[in-house]
Amino acid sequence: MLLRKEFTFDAAHNLTRYHGKCEALHGHTYRLAVVLEGTPGDEGMIVDFAEISRIVKERVVSKLDHAYINDILEQPTAENIALWVWEQIEREVLRPNARLSLIEVWETASNCVVLRAEDFNVARTRT
Ligand SMILES: [Zn+2]
Repeated sequence: MLLRKEFTFDAAHNLTRYHGKCEALHGHTYRLAVVLEGTPGDEGMIVDFAEISRIVKERVVSKLDHAYINDILEQPTAENIALWVWEQIEREVLRPNARLSLIEVWETASNCVVLRAEDFNVARTRT
């Protein structure tokens, strides 16, 4: 079973290793979805939504909201933001019955990057 929780944050960035519109400083209202895969435990839940909310707000949203993302990531594409979010929360959300399954980073209403566990593992072996 999958459990999905959404967050939003406003942030600025510019893509320094790219030539086009996004090279200039601009902002987005980002939408972030965190998806866990697991089986319901004794309480009938995979994980308490309130707990996921606390972890993601503390480790991700509080750092990115109203921030200049280039201060954290050199090339803050949606892809790199998704990889960074994965690193921040993977261990925190891990449970005997649940693990991180997907991260979605929406830059606009129609543009989204989906990072799966297998993608993260491929990216990790490259660094
Ligand atoms: Zn942008």
